[in-house]
Amino acid sequence: MITAKSFVLSEWKKGTGTPAVMVDATTEEPLGQCNAEGIDMGAVCAFGRDTGGPALRALSFAERGALLKALSGALHEHRDELIELSQSNAGCTRGDAKFDIDGATGTLAAYASLGKRLGERGFLADGDGIQLGRTARFWGQHVLVPRRGVAVHINAFNFPAWGQMEKVACALLAGVPVIEKPGTPTALVAWRVAEITAESGILPDGAFQFVCGSVGDLLDHLGPQDALAFTGSSVTGAKLKGHPNLIARNVRVNLECDSVNAAVLAPDVDSSSETYDLFLQNVVLDMTQKTGQKCTAVRRILVPRERVEEVTSELVAALGRIPVGDPRERETRMGPLASAAALADVRAGIERQMSQAEVLCGGTDPIRDKGFFVAPTLLLARDAAADVFHADEVFGPAAVVLPYPGSAADAAGLVNRGGGGLVASVYANDAAWSEELVHEIGPWHGRVWVASDRVASQTFPPGMVLPQMIHGGPGRAGGGEELGGLRGLEFYLQRTALQGFKGLVAKRFGAAKSD
Ligand code: NAP
Repeated sequence: MITAKSFVLSEWKKGTGTPAVMVDATTEEPLGQCNAEGIDMGAVCAFGRDTGGPALRALSFAERGALLKALSGALHEHRDELIELSQSNAGCTRGDAKFDIDGATGTLAAYASLGKRLGERGFLADGDGIQLGRTARFWGQHVLVPRRGVAVHINAFNFPAWGQMEKVACALLAGVPVIEKPGTPTALVAWRVAEITAESGILPDGAFQFVCGSVGDLLDHLGPQDALAFTGSSVTGAKLKGHPNLIARNVRVNLECDSVNAAVLAPDVDSSSETYDLFLQNVVLDMTQKTGQKCTAVRRILVPRERVEEVTSELVAALGRIPVGDPRERETRMGPLASAAALADVRAGIERQMSQAEVLCGGTDPIRDKGFFVAPTLLLARDAAADVFHADEVFGPAAVVLPYPGSAADAAGLVNRGGGGLVASVYANDAAWSEELVHEIGPWHGRVWVASDRVASQTFPPGMVLPQMIHGGPGRAGGGEELGGLRGLEFYLQRTALQGFKGLVAKRFGAAKSD
């Protein structure tokens, strides 16, 4: 059994308390353990601030970008090993594991290119300079400079590689050291990623630390220059946001939480169109990829009332063709959930929704003796407005079809009942209909993805988070924002309105060609 240690103060440390055990999601056999009790979290923060921070800030964007590029390469060299670990510990099929691991190396590479483009500076000019005085002599310029603290990243279990590295990429490129904490059920994958990172020797001392296990009193040690970026459930997010020390010291907090994402089929999309095929394909992919454990996966499927029978029969048939089983077997397209707790949560969530819906396929019955398996489950709501479909995130391969009358206003009314989401996907050829819907649902979503016949052959699936576009969403999705190219760095930088003599402000702090 592997003991996944923490990497703090430039060494590997084992905790002193009772360890948490990570298991194989298919066989339930123990694979590893972790525990971070007894680690001096104050010293960990100070080491990041005093050793990692200065070392990173001494580098230009281009140099930090070069570190990210090297790190991406180092992780890629271990791709097959990480895929295998992900298949056992996270229950991922090979495709699901690649999604996580290639997502990590790809995002590092994307931010490496950004760093190269930003060149020799270590800060960003934000927008154009502004004449403030009677003449151009007194000048203003917004600048973004690296904050002097540490960035604590508390990550969810479902993307142990990507979830960790997308945050690392933004923070390190901004010049801020990180302390990573993985979700425990899949911590073995995150730990191996951390081990490769630390052992590669690519990053300066103190730039990257990794706490494997409970964070203890870590948040009590954060101060005004530090930041906490959290990814996980709304319940945990709310708890952390209310942490007394984070409030008292105005620690910057970014929350990426859960989301009851909707897919909307417009009435004009008939069954002969490419957009309709894409809709069916993406809904099935979203429900089954990573066994539905994606924060961006579709949970609510809005279908015009008169099309419900046709759509549901196609979805049920397609879901029935998904081989569920051991993710190490080549033909398997959907593996188990990641943990026993996840299985219990998903079963409870499906049961709550079943009380107000017809079960079209799947359900909560066990489908194998061992492992955290649940069947792909499609429900048909009796009343599309019932709270249970809009308030509950079932974090597994389950979704509900919500019939609606067909207008964009009707669709928006239901979609926005999710209370704020990460992504809404829209399948429509009628541009006026799409425009109306986008205006209505835009304020409630971090991302609105619109497919039509004009782009059907070129889209990425809506569940895919791209480094160049922001990820996050209002309301229950946490109210946070990450990635989005350069925007992803802003959380780690301080925006300062610099005012003074133009010769100083514009010359030394004005926009560089690359900004
Ligand atoms: P979770 O139970 O909320 O845990 C998230 C992280 O918080 C884990 O690392 C967990 O550690 C840690 N944690 C829990 N309680 C804590 C506390 N009191 N103090 C400090 N850390 C604490 O969520 P999860 O089950 O890992 O992830 C699934 C959820 O994440 C889903 O709801 C999904 O929608 C959401 N998610 C959102 C995004 C997004 O980008 N918006 C992405 C992925 C997932 P332990 O594991 O050790 O408890």
